[in-house]
Amino acid sequence: MPSERTLSIIKPDATRRNLTGRINALFEEKGLRIIAQKRLQLTQAQAEAFYAVHKARPFFKDLVTFMISGPVVAQVLEGENAVAKNREVMGATDPKKAEQGTIRALHAESIEANSVHGSDSAENAAQEIAFFFAGIDIVG
Ligand code: ATP
Ligand code: MG
Repeated sequence: MPSERTLSIIKPDATRRNLTGRINALFEEKGLRIIAQKRLQLTQAQAEAFYAVHKARPFFKDLVTFMISGPVVAQVLEGENAVAKNREVMGATDPKKAEQGTIRALHAESIEANSVHGSDSAENAAQEIAFFFAGIDIVG
């Protein structure tokens, strides 16, 4: 099985509660390698651009406000089936529906403040990785 890469974001609700290390431990325990990582404060324009696919959704404005409410940690995860594996480790969008032991079941505060983002396809992963990282930043 070839190795794959996906884009992960530790969201402001999690950085605020000092959960970066605990979330990273969950990725590593499940065999995902953190091959690039940086903490940054998104601007409104950057958050709007990143979530442009959700522009028409009723929660778009609140989502952008939330994503710029504090620092995020953007990271590239690598491993077998990394896109699907990461979404498994994250759990369902709504923490009430997330399986036990997943990041969102353990740590998310709400359907919006749900601690992590993960790319939903290999195509989107490539685009989202390029949004945050240059090739030289990624050490596989
Ligand atoms: P993400 O894209 O962040 O990995 P996801 O793929 O599980 O999460 P999406 O449907 O892509 O979920 O929604 C993107 C983000 O928008 C969610 O993670 C959440 O923060 C927010 N969101 C989604 N649905 C709602 C909702 N009904 N109310 C408020 N916020 C929502
Ligand atoms: Mg999504």
